[in-house]
Amino acid sequence: MVDCTLTPEEAAIRDAAKDFAERSIRPLVTDHEARRAFPQDLAREMGRLGLFGCALPKTYGGTEAGFTAHALVTEEISRVWSSLRHLFNTQALTCPMTILHHGTEAQKTTYVPKLVMGEWMGFFALTEPHAGSDVAATRTRATRRGNRYILNGTKAWISNATVFDAGLVLARTDDRERYGGLTLFVVDRSCPGITAREYREKLGHHASPTGEIIFDNCEVPEENRIGPEGTGFRIVMESLDRGRLSVAAGALGVLRACLEAGVDYARSREAFGKPIGRFQMVQERIAEMAVLEQATRLLVLDHAARLQRGEPATMSGAIAKYHASEAVVKVANWAVEIFGSYGYSEEYPVARLFRDAKMYQIGEGTSNIQRIVIAERTLGFKT
Ligand SMILES: Cc1cc2nc3c(=O)[nH]c(=O)nc-3n(C[C@H](O)[C@H](O)[C@H](O)COP(=O)(O)OP(=O)(O)OC[C@H]3O[C@@H](n4cnc5c(N)ncnc54)[C@H](O)[C@@H]3O)c2cc1C
Repeated sequence: MVDCTLTPEEAAIRDAAKDFAERSIRPLVTDHEARRAFPQDLAREMGRLGLFGCALPKTYGGTEAGFTAHALVTEEISRVWSSLRHLFNTQALTCPMTILHHGTEAQKTTYVPKLVMGEWMGFFALTEPHAGSDVAATRTRATRRGNRYILNGTKAWISNATVFDAGLVLARTDDRERYGGLTLFVVDRSCPGITAREYREKLGHHASPTGEIIFDNCEVPEENRIGPEGTGFRIVMESLDRGRLSVAAGALGVLRACLEAGVDYARSREAFGKPIGRFQMVQERIAEMAVLEQATRLLVLDHAARLQRGEPATMSGAIAKYHASEAVVKVANWAVEIFGSYGYSEEYPVARLFRDAKMYQIGEGTSNIQRIVIAERTLGFKT
């Protein structure tokens, strides 16, 4: 194992999260995944226990344990149930932390503690039916009317779409500026004109409610605007630098679950009179999986450390997210291979891990988008 030099506090938080995941989360997984049911009570309990608050200040409901602790907790929870991974952004890094960094004092006190402590479920809505990677193609419109904005448009593929209490939505306030014409708003259930629809038939993450949020003449008070008009694109890009920590750490959790399952099976399943783990081609897979686990962990912790020090983290976030999501897809594929036909059965864990792994290459910027971010900076076209 690579020595990742955690502080005693970080190691204790990781161990407590692992214990909670095994004791309180694992017994719920199979039933909720089969029913495609979101465990709302569990999500609230995780908030009350401080699992979302590591990177947030105590004044606003956090624990101040830091970004490394956030990554460790995310990994442990995702290792047991990846459907809960998105909560580490909607309740921590993307939704509340964006309000914390760019909101008014009233916005911070109204929204951040409730989200971080799990009292309210959050969302972070950028994607639209025709605009995902190209965030600046946002068409949801916010039209100013006196001291209010009227929102019209549809957000697609939004985590927590049908269970949210409050969240952030990116909308166009000016047609003349592609990037500078976007503005971020915080909305909650009390704003009239919001409906939602869940995508029930997605490939994985069956207990995570993903769907559309539709704004139909939704009235939002002016005081719900986050930052000045025209700053939305810049704010959400900065949020994604942080959000990619949760995604990379979540992918690492799934990767670890695949490796552990693969090792157990390779030691116990016999073919040709010996455990399949004795065959060199199976060992090659196990070795590759172990290397990818360690490499991913180092990149996740490096990104966390940069965020903790307040350094620019666009590059480290893109590298960690890209590597983790490509690695987890490879490792999940090999885990299914090691299990043979039992890898193809929902009665064993790796089928779910295989389905869940694919999401990591898509959410919070696809692998192609991460490659672009990394290459543009490596070539010196962007800083
Ligand atoms: C389970 C799940 C949860 C999600 N949760 C949220 C959420 O909470 N909030 C939210 O806002 N979004 C969310 N998303 C949406 C996700 O962020 C987008 O799907 C993602 O950004 C890609 O957008 P798209 O699907 O429109 O694909 P597109 O942008 O249409 O891309 C399609 C393909 O084209 C490639 N491509 C696009 N542009 C380029 C380019 N310039 N160069 C090379 N290749 C390119 C992409 O890499 C991809 O392979 C979620 C998605 C999933 C699957």
